[in-house]
Amino acid sequence: MTSTYTPLSTRFPEVDAAQVFAMIIDGQNVPSSDGRTFRCVDPFEDAEWGHIPSATEADVDAAVAAARRAFPGWAATSPWARAELFRTWSALIREYAAELARLQVHENGKTITEMTYASQGMATHLDYAAQIALTLHGSTVAPMMPGHSAWSVRVPIGVVAAIAPWNNPLGLLTAKVFPALAAGNTVVIKPSEVTPVSTIRLVQLAHEAGIPAGVINVVTGAGPVGAALAGHPGIDKVGFTGSTSTGRKVAAAASSHLAKVTLELGGKGAHIVFADANLTKAVEGLATGILSGTGQACNAGSRIFLHEEIRDEVLERLKERLAAVRIGDPLDPSNEIGPLASRAQFAKVTSYFDIAQSEEHTALIQGAGRGTDLPGISGGLFVEPTLYDTPDRLSRLRREEIFGPVASVITFSSEDEVIELANDSEFGLVAGLWTQDLDRARRVAGRLESGVVWINTWRAFSFNMPFGGRKDSGIGHELGIDEVSEYTEEKAIWLGPDQSS
Ligand code: NAD
Repeated sequence: MTSTYTPLSTRFPEVDAAQVFAMIIDGQNVPSSDGRTFRCVDPFEDAEWGHIPSATEADVDAAVAAARRAFPGWAATSPWARAELFRTWSALIREYAAELARLQVHENGKTITEMTYASQGMATHLDYAAQIALTLHGSTVAPMMPGHSAWSVRVPIGVVAAIAPWNNPLGLLTAKVFPALAAGNTVVIKPSEVTPVSTIRLVQLAHEAGIPAGVINVVTGAGPVGAALAGHPGIDKVGFTGSTSTGRKVAAAASSHLAKVTLELGGKGAHIVFADANLTKAVEGLATGILSGTGQACNAGSRIFLHEEIRDEVLERLKERLAAVRIGDPLDPSNEIGPLASRAQFAKVTSYFDIAQSEEHTALIQGAGRGTDLPGISGGLFVEPTLYDTPDRLSRLRREEIFGPVASVITFSSEDEVIELANDSEFGLVAGLWTQDLDRARRVAGRLESGVVWINTWRAFSFNMPFGGRKDSGIGHELGIDEVSEYTEEKAIWLGPDQSS
């Protein structure tokens, strides 16, 4: 293969850049059946490392068949026995959290601070999912039919396809895989083509912990591999996180064989500051909404609504905060943002700088620097935190998910107006507001068309709170107390009248 990338330096001495990785099917490490591979790219160095198999349809068939074979045995294991295995797996995840974090930084360029937090959190989530599975229960009712008894039980669905994006590779993957396994399903994973290695490592740890062969399988490759998996008649449910446009394709493919779906899709978070807010805290919240994950976060606060009375003051403080952001090597914990995750993502984000120039009413407030324009940055896929004034509600910067550290600023004058403007979006994933008036907070939170609303905080998170989107941001929820039930069917059982008389 002709490469346009430079060789990797020695920032990751523990990783052999020439290593050939394998998929995991039925507990075996396997190459693609036609021998084709693709490469991982480190976005900070814009350099290739690691060869990954590009799965064929035959590989997808083999992975689904392995998961089907493993299903009866795994489903019959008691949740107590599964919880025991999960305890061993979560201990291994804790032991190897630093390695899992570094691998993800190597794949997607997110900061080591964020990936370390996510990697350690994964073990907590696994413990939680195992406990929830122990509380699964059906119901017993007094039925209408005389002499009958009736009760329901929760049973696993079957074989689950887990298709994940690159922006929080393991955290978003395990939001599907942990509850699916805890409920007794088997899984076939398709990680993003940008971030496959960390997933392979996580599944190796599962096998070290004693999870039986075939219960977790991994096929690697790009969109067509995901499409083959979602459309496979042997798949009973698809848990998908990714863009809204891909989510539509996944829903169509899954519906062709009536598989269930959970879809966690794109967002364009409305972040509202009222005039009575604590402005110091609000500005820090706005910065979090722009900077987290270098803006490559479904829960970014990418539409900033400022009340006209405090707009200028907030913008001055926010500009100062963003101008002071440390940009650089994501392995250096003092850096707040790293590069964008890939050349494709860099091209997409910077294309919006060109779109902004072509929009009549859109005006740059601050930022829009890229790559080598930035002081102290020698190159690479960097963009500066950027703010645009977007008074036109048809502005593409204001309506479309950019998925970079770029926010649109909108001015409002009343509560009703800002609710209408915030809801004027195809997305409905997250929203937030800053105010010291609790009556207003309750009113506005109730009227925002959003799966999550944060009041006087941004990006608050807990595994026992549900996360999911309304409108084009998705179908269903992940996490929360019902996360394991989402991977079960409720089955009704009837017992007829006494047979002895
Ligand atoms: P993407 O839609 O391009 O890809 C997601 C996954 O789907 C990848 O594994 C990809 O290979 C696979 N895929 C591509 N085409 C497919 C097809 N036709 N059928 C099946 N699978 C296919 O998304 P991305 O660029 O990896 O991730 C960014 C997007 O994910 C953003 O829109 C972001 O908002 C969204 N996201 C949502 C959440 C959430 O919880 N709602 C969380 C994180 C990211």
